[in-house]
Amino acid sequence: MYYPDGSKYIYSRQSEIDDIINIGWLSHEFAFNKGEVNTDIKNKILEIIYLKKCNVMRGIYKCDFCKSEISVPHHSGKILLGHAEIWIPSISSNLIYASPTLIYHYIDKHHYLPPANYMESLMSFDLNSK
Ligand SMILES: [Zn+2]
Repeated sequence: MYYPDGSKYIYSRQSEIDDIINIGWLSHEFAFNKGEVNTDIKNKILEIIYLKKCNVMRGIYKCDFCKSEISVPHHSGKILLGHAEIWIPSISSNLIYASPTLIYHYIDKHHYLPPANYMESLMSFDLNSK
């Protein structure tokens, strides 16, 4: 499932919604930004996946690069990626960023570098929010 970073989110909806933006829906067929992402950000994403994942699906998406199902170690045991999303409110606008849970793996193993505003918004996201 590929969407360019910054495109409008339509995946689980009937029509496009202006204020939800795709981040991290990568494909091996399209180039993406690469770079180092610090451990705090990676850990925060994993906690958000653990506590706040949404739009859970029946099927599992495989990593488009590894061609396999991905699970990662976590203090709760293991977290399976590829069957849910995380939604992060932007710190600087009314936008919401929608990402597949595989974004963690894309960052950790494939050196994906999300937009700076996305990472700032992640770090300020309140895990205790409703
Ligand atoms: Zn992979």
